[in-house]
Amino acid sequence: MEKKLRFNSATIHGGQSPDPAYGAVMPPIYQTSTYAQTTPGGHKGYEYSRTHNPTRTALEKSLASIENGKHGLAFASGLAAMDAVMKLLSPGDEVISTHDLYGGSYRLFTKIFEDFGIKFHFVPMENTARISETINDNTRLIWVETPTNPMMNVIDIAAIAKVAKEHNLLLAVDNTFASPYLQQPLNFGADIVMHSATKYLAGHSDVVLGSLVVNDDSLKERLSFIQNASGAVPGPMDSFLTLRGIKTLHVRLQRHCENGKAVAEYLANHPGVEKVFWPGFETHPNHDVAKAQMKDFGGMLSFIPKGADYNAAMKIVEKLQLFTLAESLGGVESLAGHPASMTHASIPKEEREKSGVVDALIRLSVGIEDAQDLIEDLAQAIG
Ligand SMILES: *Cc1c(COP(=O)(O)O)cnc(C)c1O
Repeated sequence: MEKKLRFNSATIHGGQSPDPAYGAVMPPIYQTSTYAQTTPGGHKGYEYSRTHNPTRTALEKSLASIENGKHGLAFASGLAAMDAVMKLLSPGDEVISTHDLYGGSYRLFTKIFEDFGIKFHFVPMENTARISETINDNTRLIWVETPTNPMMNVIDIAAIAKVAKEHNLLLAVDNTFASPYLQQPLNFGADIVMHSATKYLAGHSDVVLGSLVVNDDSLKERLSFIQNASGAVPGPMDSFLTLRGIKTLHVRLQRHCENGKAVAEYLANHPGVEKVFWPGFETHPNHDVAKAQMKDFGGMLSFIPKGADYNAAMKIVEKLQLFTLAESLGGVESLAGHPASMTHASIPKEEREKSGVVDALIRLSVGIEDAQDLIEDLAQAIG
């Protein structure tokens, strides 16, 4: 039996071994769409690259390993991975989802899958009672994002897994914000863990890719079928870049967490800042859950400048020099965003504000630069 690796080794070696052809230490980029057969059907496990590609296989094994799961599946993007999960459902089925979730996820649910007869309920999940109240005979899936984007609420995965098991529902967790360095949802009883690997996993803002990891064999079979039948697969180059990113996930995340803490504490003490949303504060409403569920508190945070409106918040993000004003998160470089006009613009203002995404809210993805440089940049921008 293969020795089970600890996380900081799994990122580097999980599911990997030198390539059998020439001993290449990194899985080669198999830039090919097809594979020679000796007789019809006589091949070495690879027929066509939508179905399987050796570079993608290496990535899928790595993904499973770092999420402590059995099966990994890679997709062309995080949303393509979510799209595959939704295709497990049938018209008439209902989904209960975290209410303050990634804008693109909300758009996929409401603008694509609602038209196919799937019904979505968006509920705050910090209190599991809200989920139980919403379950009915048509409920099939619970979709959890934690920490939430951009409000940084933390949801108790184990508590929700218990509810899901009681009602025989699938539980899927979008683990993009935390990364498996901070939490491994399958360990808490989730059935599916999803990533926008575009963010922390790849980690260098140079690739768009998505993933799913599951333990159940029949669920894996169905998702593999959808992956091949719908065809939203990543190419070998993107698979390679993601594999390379994963090798330093644990070292990067350690620094993201240190810098996140330094920036959160700086902002919390700044007279020009009204509120900081970061689960590491003892005053954060879900701090206890975060402490129990997560290894550390991550590099994502949001804040509201004092007395700011839409335009004042825009001005602050425009003034930032070292923080780049951009969508996305989880790369080595620090990014700032204005959810109301950027990531969450596709959510109606009324819906947005219900979950706290006010016009003045600014979201930071704290990178791994020198924390003092980041703090000085925020100081000059907030004034
Ligand atoms: C970016 C993101 C997605 C979508 O992933 P893509 O790779 O952009 O398709 C989903 N969920 C969260 C939390 C994200 O940040």
